[in-house]
Amino acid sequence: MKPLTIAIDGPSGAGKSTIADIVCQKLNILHLDTGAMYRAVGLCALQLGIDPRDEAAVSLMCQEGKVLVDVKYQDGKQLTLLNGTDVSSLIRTQEVGGAASAVSRYVPVRSMMVKRQQEMAASQPMLLDGRDIGTVVLPDATVKIFLTASAQERARRRMLQLQEKGESASFEEVLAEVNARDLQDTTRELTPLRQAEDAILVDSSNFTFDETVQAILDIVEEKYGKQ
Ligand code: C5P
Repeated sequence: MKPLTIAIDGPSGAGKSTIADIVCQKLNILHLDTGAMYRAVGLCALQLGIDPRDEAAVSLMCQEGKVLVDVKYQDGKQLTLLNGTDVSSLIRTQEVGGAASAVSRYVPVRSMMVKRQQEMAASQPMLLDGRDIGTVVLPDATVKIFLTASAQERARRRMLQLQEKGESASFEEVLAEVNARDLQDTTRELTPLRQAEDAILVDSSNFTFDETVQAILDIVEEKYGKQ
């Protein structure tokens, strides 16, 4: 029997990763945050002084084997490795997020990431979150969820995160960034963000964190039985 696979896709800021972490703890399965892998590729470009929007240079970087992205687990927690070094914290900046969004448009980057993600999900029960999991990476996933929230609500949550970190930004700036990222992710030529036909939509705009987790656990139970 194929291992359980849960695909959660959705726009940035919908809370996929934090929600997925808790869902995975409850189900006792591993969580693969695929955005972290694209972030590592974006970071690699920045470290090598390559413009993430330069398709030819980013493609060459991949072909020359200069970017090896892997994932390890330590006490169930994902560590994202770039050329053997743990970059889990370094990839969490706005700059690297933007670079990830740019490099993720290119074929050599996507094929490399998708292949590694499929290999990982073939051998163990897993939840993958990203943009193309239900449509491309795991078209036969056991459970597919499209997790979203309104742009306003995602911007509001992002503001709170920034405030917690002691960083300041205006709501308008943050909302503009959310909208720009949505536009880039939904209009790119290669596997744009979209809801798989058989995915279940969860709109968390009016849900608390716990309610969103519960909604997802209910969907998994309904599709796969109680864990
Ligand atoms: O989810 P996160 O914001 O960390 O992802 C960073 C960027 O990586 C996204 O803006 C998106 O462009 C890209 N990405 C992707 N496919 C995935 C996951 C992330 O293209 N499966």
